[in-house]
Amino acid sequence: ENRESVNFIQKIINEDLAKGTYGNRVQTRFPPEPNGYLHVGHAKSICLNYGLAKKNNGIFNLRFDDTNPTKEDDSFVESIIKDVKWLCPDWEERIFFASNYFEKMYEYAVELIKKSLAFVDDLSADEIREYRGTLTEPGKESPWRNRSIEENLELFDKMKNGEFENGKKVLRAKIDMASPNINMRDPVIYRILHESHHNTGDKWCIYPMYDYAHPIEDAIEGITHSICTLEFEDHRPFYDWLLSNLEDFKTAPTKQIEFAKLFLTKTMMGKRYLKKMVEEGYVDGWDDPRMPTVAALRRRGYTPEAINNFCEAIGVSKAQSVVDIAMLEHAVRDDLSLKAERTMAVLDPIKLIITNYPEDQVEYMETENNPDNPEMGTRMVPFCREIYIEREDFMEVPPKKYFRLFPGNEVRLRNAYFVRCEDFVKDENGNVTEVHCTYDPETRSGSGFTGRKVKGTLHWVSARHCQDAEVRLYDYMMEDQDYDKTNFLEKLNPNSKVVLKNCKVEPSIKEKNVGERFQFLRHGYFIIDQDSNDSHLVFNRIVSLKSSYK
Ligand code: ATP
Ligand code: MG
Ligand code: MG
Repeated sequence: ENRESVNFIQKIINEDLAKGTYGNRVQTRFPPEPNGYLHVGHAKSICLNYGLAKKNNGIFNLRFDDTNPTKEDDSFVESIIKDVKWLCPDWEERIFFASNYFEKMYEYAVELIKKSLAFVDDLSADEIREYRGTLTEPGKESPWRNRSIEENLELFDKMKNGEFENGKKVLRAKIDMASPNINMRDPVIYRILHESHHNTGDKWCIYPMYDYAHPIEDAIEGITHSICTLEFEDHRPFYDWLLSNLEDFKTAPTKQIEFAKLFLTKTMMGKRYLKKMVEEGYVDGWDDPRMPTVAALRRRGYTPEAINNFCEAIGVSKAQSVVDIAMLEHAVRDDLSLKAERTMAVLDPIKLIITNYPEDQVEYMETENNPDNPEMGTRMVPFCREIYIEREDFMEVPPKKYFRLFPGNEVRLRNAYFVRCEDFVKDENGNVTEVHCTYDPETRSGSGFTGRKVKGTLHWVSARHCQDAEVRLYDYMMEDQDYDKTNFLEKLNPNSKVVLKNCKVEPSIKEKNVGERFQFLRHGYFIIDQDSNDSHLVFNRIVSLKSSYK
């Protein structure tokens, strides 16, 4: 089984444990930038990092990579913490902020200057770009590259003290302008930005660049395996260069390991696009159940177990691919099948009257809560003369192989009796409004009746006892795979949300709470949505019962 197979990252960890590279320590982290909500791709990274720490008796850190003051916000910090706690239920909360290391980062920059490995450059951003060269042509050294250590120290101190405007100077690592890897051509490591930061306020007006900050963050926390996505592969030489040149970290520098990002069919990821969907009202917020955000998956009714199992099942690799969203749906069905109570709900009701059933009689039918999990017990479901069935379970003129109700046909009402259709009523528009049946008392469920067989079994709810509900059916956000950044708004699935306002659910639902999950027989898995209140019940469909996954 896939679950047991050792992925390539675990193999690297095994080697390090055998060699004692980091003693017996394994420590991973998830390093989001607090500039948006997490999506299912981030969940993949969280499950991977958390899972590796757990399997190896290690430690997992949540670290906010908040080194860029312009895009970050505290509200995102809170939502990210909530999501990570939800996905990692027994995580001992270890939450860090890269911005708390600004002082250290500054000291390490001074160390580089003192080693003649960094210099203050006066070139403008455009000039730096021009000097950088191309894949086929080497870069050109900055005329400021050979400043003395003393001059560099003095200028860097002035940069820090706010003596220069934005863009007037930068600090660059001094490596190799002829390197075939452009990331090694004297990369900028500090820039001037007179800007307030969500954590450090106005303390700093120079901020470290991502490529400089990230390895130091990892190393300060004692991360052993720094797992990131493939686009950072050619940043690794600088990661290694930096740590091996800092006295604090050179003996056992953190190891950067890259894996392929998760992409899902029929799903748009990427914070920028999701933000646009929210801001322009294409969805009802970040946690709209159609969104691929973790907040939306939670509201939709996905379980953290299902998401963790899905991430295990798809594994981790270096080859980019798109995972069929049906696999995610399979994981949630798999997780809920033994956990969710079976309940009868009629989404598009039509009244069925049992004309020979006593007017005032109510019977309570014992029903298993989950036939696949007898430990979940039974409940009593009321049955009486008037019930609701699905509109599609009756046809005036049945097509071939239709075994449900039509005039003259007999079906089983689940956990109750056989009923035979005797008549029906239509309104002036020709819509059927009532189906009239007779029942056979001998056919009561559990009575052992074997006199005759019927082919159709219908679910139903008692009209007198049932609870009204609104049911929201969700479908994929994108119609197909054929979209890009420029046209994705045109490719949104227009039927991604269907709201049914007149549903009828069996009365046992009245005792349930927001967040509880059920299987509505024949319809799929549903959760009670947070929009519910005492007088209005709202369900989200988590996933339908049938899978298209082979
Ligand atoms: P996006 O571009 O989708 O907004 P991001 O990479 O900018 O994502 P970060 O906050 O920087 O968002 O990401 C935090 C971590 O999540 C990073 O280590 C990143 O590599 C990882 N990550 C982001 N997207 C995916 C994905 N689709 N699959 C796996 N890991 C991902
Ligand atoms: Mg990023
Ligand atoms: Mg991004």
